[in-house]
Amino acid sequence: GAQVGDELKQLPRNPTRAVRVGSVTVGDGNPIAVQSMTATKTPDVDATFAQVRQLQEAGADIIRVAVDSKKDAEGLRALSDRLNENGTPANLSVDLQENYRLAEVVAPFVAKLRYNPGHLYHHEREKPWQEKVKYLAGIAEEHDCAMRVGVNCGSVDPAKAEKYEQGDDLSPMLESALDHCAFLDSIGFERFVVSLKDSDPAAVIEVNRRFATERPDVPLHLGVTEAGMPPEGVIKTRIAFEQLISRGIGDTIRVSLTVPNDRKYEEIDAGRGILDDIKHGRVRSVVAFDSNGLNIISCPSCSRVENEAFVDLAAAVKEMTGYAKQHAVTIAVMGCRVNGPGETDDADLGLWCAPNFVNLKKGTEHLGRYPYDEILPKLKAELDAVIASKTAV
Ligand code: SF4
Repeated sequence: GAQVGDELKQLPRNPTRAVRVGSVTVGDGNPIAVQSMTATKTPDVDATFAQVRQLQEAGADIIRVAVDSKKDAEGLRALSDRLNENGTPANLSVDLQENYRLAEVVAPFVAKLRYNPGHLYHHEREKPWQEKVKYLAGIAEEHDCAMRVGVNCGSVDPAKAEKYEQGDDLSPMLESALDHCAFLDSIGFERFVVSLKDSDPAAVIEVNRRFATERPDVPLHLGVTEAGMPPEGVIKTRIAFEQLISRGIGDTIRVSLTVPNDRKYEEIDAGRGILDDIKHGRVRSVVAFDSNGLNIISCPSCSRVENEAFVDLAAAVKEMTGYAKQHAVTIAVMGCRVNGPGETDDADLGLWCAPNFVNLKKGTEHLGRYPYDEILPKLKAELDAVIASKTAV
């Protein structure tokens, strides 16, 4: 028979709308869908196809691909054709950043369009965001796509950020998500999910709980951004997922891990493992994570990564900083200029990669740019200074 504490739990689930994404339906009590994202260069169809297959074999329900250019969009079309010819169509989702107008080029090949409200401001500044969202919803409708309103702590809409006190990062995120939901509802587009991501699991828990209180009907995509390398990255994500999913919050998940391209399936394995543990009542994160120690956050990398050395750099940072484990210092390591400059602002020290050098930051201050083989000693000197200043007070 089943062991005590190992029986399947009937998890509570918020009464969310059903949102169909290709062959899976998210929300409305359906099994929690597990997602991942490719990190290969999107125009490299062979590599991206191989990665999608690897993720499908691991059990990915939805696979996201980054598209920033016409060339990426061409790659996506070829990828979609190749998957169909192979008899293994995937539920592809596309991640639109500043260039939201690529939606019309990519929508025929995907099941979901993701946009970030904080990025709609960069392009065509004179145009109100409502017009852009209306355009996106129209494209989604025309091509049978769902949408995700993906709000990220590091790239929140500046107009929203200004309205709240400094230090209150969650209210602007929440308000931005709620505004977009209300607007999509008002134009009659209901086939969307929302995500509210942060690199701090406690913030993810709080902002998602607040959102679910206001809009229990909107399916949530859960994730901790830049969770970093395993095992810490999995532990941070687990903390947030356990707290939320056991309260009925969350309809689809992604575990973001900094792993090399041939190990991307670990994101799916980790997601499935966490869900399985929650279902069986094996909740264990609370004791496993020391939030008072060194915290390395790093992006999972994606096709935007600017130098392939990024994943090795993140691993080298983790190894080099091992001596500082007991100090409450946050170091962010990011793969590119899209999210690198913003997402490192809240860290004590930040690195973000450019093709031939690494930018070093201390909080919001840019300290300099260094070649890949010179960055570690520079980082160590800054880390020692941060530790000294923290222990002095
Ligand atoms: Fe991709 Fe850049 Fe984000 Fe890393 S920081 S996941 S490389 S967009």
